[in-house]
Order: sequence, then C-alpha cells, then structure tokens
Amino acid sequence: MQNLKIELTKNPKQKPADESKLGFGRIFTDHMFLIDYTGEKGWHDARIVPYAPLEMDPASVCLHYGQSIFEGLKAYRGVDGKIRLFRPEKNFERMNISCERMCLPTVEPDFALHCLKKLIEIDQDWIPHSDGTSLYIRPFVFGVDKQVGVHPSDHVIFMIILSPVGAYYASGLNPVKIYVEENYVRAVRGGTGFVKAAANYAISLKAQQEAGEKGYSQVLWLDAIEHKYVEEVGAMNVFFVFDDEIVTPELQGSILSGITRMSTIELLRQKGHKVVERRLSIDEICEAHKNGRLKEAFGSGTAAVISPMGELNYKGEKITLNGGEIGEITQYIYDELTGIQWGKIEDKNNWTESAIEN
Ligand SMILES: *Cc1c(COP(=O)(O)O)cnc(C)c1O
Repeated sequence: MQNLKIELTKNPKQKPADESKLGFGRIFTDHMFLIDYTGEKGWHDARIVPYAPLEMDPASVCLHYGQSIFEGLKAYRGVDGKIRLFRPEKNFERMNISCERMCLPTVEPDFALHCLKKLIEIDQDWIPHSDGTSLYIRPFVFGVDKQVGVHPSDHVIFMIILSPVGAYYASGLNPVKIYVEENYVRAVRGGTGFVKAAANYAISLKAQQEAGEKGYSQVLWLDAIEHKYVEEVGAMNVFFVFDDEIVTPELQGSILSGITRMSTIELLRQKGHKVVERRLSIDEICEAHKNGRLKEAFGSGTAAVISPMGELNYKGEKITLNGGEIGEITQYIYDELTGIQWGKIEDKNNWTESAIEN
C-alpha cells in the first residue's frame, strides 16, 4: 500500500454548536484527502491536508466537459458510541464503475477505504451526536488536464471531503409530493444514468426546479424512449408496494444501482416479502391505484435513507398514497436500515464496520 502523508491543520475551525441547524452538506471538517494520478506515474502523492480551496487551471477538463464523478456515504455515531460505516466497499466498487464509464482511472478500493478511515479518525470529533445526524462522506474523481480539447484527462485527482449533516427528517418521516415528469429525461440506456457522473445531476436540475414551482418536492423520472416506464425518483431509487408484491425497476442501464436499494431488497426478502425487479409502467401504477392494489411507494438513497411518497401527480391527475400517511412497509424498512446504521439493532448481515482502523 502506498504511503499516506498527513499534515494536520494549525487552525482548527469552530465546530457547529447547534446540531439542529446543520442542514445538508454546507459545513466541512478540518481536513481533506487528495491523491494525484498521471499516466506516467499512476496514483501518487496520497495526502491528508487542511481543508482548503483548490487551485485549478481555467482550462481544466472537468470544468468544460464534465469529466467528473462522485460517491456518497455516511459515518454514523452509534448509540453505543461506536462509529460505523455501512457497506463502504460497495461505494468504492461503484466509484470504479463510474470512473470506468467516464474514462477516469480506477482506485484500489481497499486503499480508498484505508484513506477514508484515516481521514475520519483525524476529524472524528466533527461527527455530530444528536439523533439522526451523521457525517456525510463525499469521495470524487475529476480530470484536470489543462487543455481545451475534448479528450480523457491524463492528470486526474481523487479526493474525499467530509460534512457533518443534520437529521434528514427534522419532524419525523414526512411523505412528499411527487411530480411525474413527462418531458425532461434523466438518463438513457447507453448513457451515464447507471453511474454517478456529475453531469447527470446538472441535467436534472431544470425538471426539479419546475416541479418545485408547481409545489412538488421531487420528480418521478420515466424512461427516455417511451416516457412510460418508471426509473427513479429525484436522485433516489424507487419502490412501489402492491397487494401481493413489492416492485422496483430492474437495473437495465439507465438506473443507478443504489446501495440502499440493494439493502432494502435484501431486508424485505429476509422478512418474507415478495420483491420483484422488473419493468413497471406509470399506467400500471395508475391502474393499481384505481383498483385498490397500490398500497405504498417510497424512494431510497443514502442521504434520506427512505423517503415516503404521499402523492403522485401524473398529467394533472393526483394519486394519494396510503391516505398521505407513511405506510407500514416504508416505516419498517426505514427503522430497520437506520437501526442497523446507528447500532440500535443487530446487524445480522454484517453490513456495518468500524469507521476507524485500530
Ligand atoms: C446515489 C444515487 C442513488 C442512491 O444510491 P445509494 O447508494 O442508495 O445512496 C439513487 N439514484 C441516483 C441517481 C443516485 O445518484
């Protein structure tokens, strides 16, 4: 394993005093991790240094052509005081799939995890203590060649920054209103929807903004070709609970393989539920609602864990889910996942591990 150089800050920042005001991703810790890559030297110069702005050439490839990917995971301060990560190896495996798709060099997952744990160890006092709070971890990789010609960058940087974040649901798990998007699309098979490419999020802003103006908090994305099959909700995977089965769209190339999604599927199956990964059309959802078969729907992702849907608006027609209340299965999976993450219940699948190496 390569050497990891550590330079500690001489000017530690003031930690946020009021944990109820943390919000999401606005405050960063005292240190950051960086490593450079060039075709000639490979990955080199791994270092943890004081958190600071980057100096970047204006011609850097990532700024012009979006050769940039990211990951998102969390460290949780458990009820027993232990700091845990949830399936972090999955994030670094997925980061490499993203790198591969965007012509960025891959990173050895064990090395990335080792560097992350060192960074968390150094900044562990930044992990908030209040119920529902955590430390959001943002690894990202981007090309910095100074050349305004479209090409895969030779010089690449991999970084990790950390942000203490508040409880996602300040006032309990509130069902949200969802606008079914018919015009804009997020991703198409053959594109980059299955990876966390930075550009995927830039292109989704407009639909999100317009839905917001209509009073909806997220959009439900349909497939890019027929505008018919459900794909994701906002930047989350999506589940629909019917009478006799729980359905989530199959990973067919334009959907991101969420770690919360795969964990949700596994936990629901372990509980004896029938969970099916298949194509699911918006018409089938409307039909199931009409004949009373549609019970619940929710989104899944690291940031919110589980986000219940209270209403769907499709072509002006409003579908209320479970009377606008959180459903039984939605609540179960939320309690189960957060229980494992904060060490409140037994982690039967061995999904968590210490965030600090001993
Ligand atoms: C990150 C992400 C998810 C959720 O993935 P998790 O690993 O569960 O956090 C779902 N959809 C999109 C588009 C994403 O970017």
